Amino acid sequence: MDFDEYRRRGKEMVDYIADYLENIRDRRVFPNVKPGYMRNLIPDSAPVDGEDWDKIFVDIERVIMPGVTHWQSPHMHAYFPALNSFPSLLGDMLADAINCLGFTWASSPACTELETIVMNWLGKMIGLPDEFLHTSGTSKGGGVIQTTASEATLVGLLAGRTVAIKRYHEKTPGLQDAEINARLVAYCSDQAHSSVEKAALIGLVRMRYIESDENLSQRGAQLTEAIENDIREGLIPFWVCATLGTTGACAFDNLDEIGDVCRKYNLWLHVDAAYAGSAFICPEYRIWLKGINKADSIAFNPSKWLMVHFDCTAMWVKDSTAVHRTFNVEPLYLQHENSGLAIDYMHWQIPLSKRFRALKLWFVLRSYGIKGLQKHIREGVRLAQKFEALVFADHRFELPAERHLGMVVFRIKGDNDLTERLLKRMNQRGHLHCVPASLKGKYVIRFTVTSTRTTNDDILSDWAEIRQITTEILEELNINLSDRAKVPLKDIREKNDTFGSSLLLANTPMSPKIVNGSFAAIFDAGDFLQKAYAGIRLNNQDSPAMRRRVRGILMSGKQFSLDSRMDLVVHHCLDSHPKNGEKKAAAIREDSEDLWEGTKGSL
Ligand code: PLP
Repeated sequence: MDFDEYRRRGKEMVDYIADYLENIRDRRVFPNVKPGYMRNLIPDSAPVDGEDWDKIFVDIERVIMPGVTHWQSPHMHAYFPALNSFPSLLGDMLADAINCLGFTWASSPACTELETIVMNWLGKMIGLPDEFLHTSGTSKGGGVIQTTASEATLVGLLAGRTVAIKRYHEKTPGLQDAEINARLVAYCSDQAHSSVEKAALIGLVRMRYIESDENLSQRGAQLTEAIENDIREGLIPFWVCATLGTTGACAFDNLDEIGDVCRKYNLWLHVDAAYAGSAFICPEYRIWLKGINKADSIAFNPSKWLMVHFDCTAMWVKDSTAVHRTFNVEPLYLQHENSGLAIDYMHWQIPLSKRFRALKLWFVLRSYGIKGLQKHIREGVRLAQKFEALVFADHRFELPAERHLGMVVFRIKGDNDLTERLLKRMNQRGHLHCVPASLKGKYVIRFTVTSTRTTNDDILSDWAEIRQITTEILEELNINLSDRAKVPLKDIREKNDTFGSSLLLANTPMSPKIVNGSFAAIFDAGDFLQKAYAGIRLNNQDSPAMRRRVRGILMSGKQFSLDSRMDLVVHHCLDSHPKNGEKKAAAIREDSEDLWEGTKGSL
């Protein structure tokens, strides 16, 4: 391929990518292929003679796309997001062309210098204390872009191990490193990601799992107890990982308490905020960062939620000399005349070489600005709130953990088997994609709002699919979860202190009033939510506040009084006249934007 052909093919590829992303909604999110599917589509050996690009290009759709899980799809709700964006793609296009390996400052000064600057930008954006930033003078802190959060955790653990071994040597001279290593103990929550366990496996240290509390949060008291036990056993506690935004339920460890414990016992505290870290660009979510001043290292993935595509993990350390000491090898061929005067990132990471990842991060931060990125995060949270409200309104489901940020965990009430069946069937159909988690023995489905393309309507259609499959499964198994006895009013009030607002269509059906009724609530929103909501006609003359309030009540899962339900049903019947069908659909679409406004306060 010569320059002219590259120019032509490059433009073709950009068009293909733009079409792919623009029309991604039309593809099934989860591929319908079996292991080994590709073996029948391409030959066993590489071609001897080079092939035409045309032939290669058509194989993208023939060979690759049938086996792709479409992570950018609006119906992708599995794992955590792995978003891209156009500025990010363009950044990597340039980085790939430059293709420098930034292991030392001299190997490509722009690569190192941009990385230190954007890591300072990002650190300030999430509110990190200055000690974590690259500042001239005596500061030993700074940021580095690692490949993954797993790698950042391992780097944090190895740095903590270096510090602990050095300290123990000073206290008890004459011991071998390996003898001290054999007595080291690390700690994390029972909710921590498997990469924390992996770091301990590689570091050859014991890992103690601290039982999380009822909010799936690691707490200081339990950690202290485990540390005291280990000290009594003659072991050496040295490292703790606190997770902000766990993989299973997006729960948050109590960083402030854990930080106090780490200070008391002189332990390295690493913070794994892989997914949730992006949200800290919004000040309202920084409450979970309380205590960060007591941490030694923190990492999160802009490659998850911040639209900087994989790979890009932001990691900061307070004392980079600990990392240096861990990774410091300096063969002659890597030394340069500015060694020691400039940052050589090879001392901050496991591999020698480093991609020019700072470019895509720089492009994204500049293109969106802090405000644009905050808007993106808040939109993801808003959509997750919508989904949560839908689940909440259907009595067949439960939300076994509190929703945080853009992730909802839910399950069908009853045996784990029901939820497992639901998930399996959802993924087989491939219209939306989720993965499970186990929370203290409960099998749950994790529903994360991932894509920048997900809309209100997508959430509604995904939920309709989940409900439909649930109905099928319950019917097949002859399980009737709707057979519920009347709930005593006292119990309802205990669970929902706003109970008592019932929807009463008092004067005229066209001007519903919210009154503080005390009707015996006998119906649940869930059983008519999908069908009957479409039948409520709110006049244009009704004030927006009134419209929001009524919708809020409908969607909040509160129970309804008999008379209001009857009115709703009557409207539904009237409205289901074929002639009104189209008008009604248009009205629903028009309304969908502010559909959930009213539910916010009630959840
Ligand atoms: N930590 C947490 C809390 C995670 O949720 C994940 C992955 O989702 C990881 C670590 C691992 O991330 P990575 O793939 O960047 O290693």
